[in-house]
Amino acid sequence: MSLLSILMKSKRDEPSSKPRPDCGLCTRAEEVVVWRGAFWRLIDAQQPDYPGYMRLVANRHVTEVSWLAKAEREHLFKLLPVIDELICEHLAPEKINIASLGNQVPHMHWHIIPRWKDDPHFPDSIWSSARNNMASPELAQRREKAEALFQSLVAACKKAVY
Ligand SMILES: [Zn+2]
Repeated sequence: MSLLSILMKSKRDEPSSKPRPDCGLCTRAEEVVVWRGAFWRLIDAQQPDYPGYMRLVANRHVTEVSWLAKAEREHLFKLLPVIDELICEHLAPEKINIASLGNQVPHMHWHIIPRWKDDPHFPDSIWSSARNNMASPELAQRREKAEALFQSLVAACKKAVY
């Protein structure tokens, strides 16, 4: 056991530059990558009820913000506002939810979720019980706009961190 793992809450929290075979975000192959940079990748969360829902995932296995290297922190906080701004521009949602939980998958990832008043869970979090089972009449249009958003993010993310 390394000193690092003794200091951490559990062995699965230990940061690593190598993919961990027991971690879904280290090994996941089927994710739809919108953009990939040196430290972070942006993936399409593929949630049909939530067009534009993405996850910003650390490339290496790291669990807590305090464990991020300086460059990882800098890129994170350059990317989040750019992503937020482009979501506003393309989708004009009521609100953008940004959350990092990691209770089930302790590999740092940020949920970035455009929200609308007529989405299934508004104004609660998307992980709460649904309030509304009626699909928004604007859902198809929002999905089309989300595709354009993903296209725009490729250049915007690259510009933000390089
Ligand atoms: Zn991992």
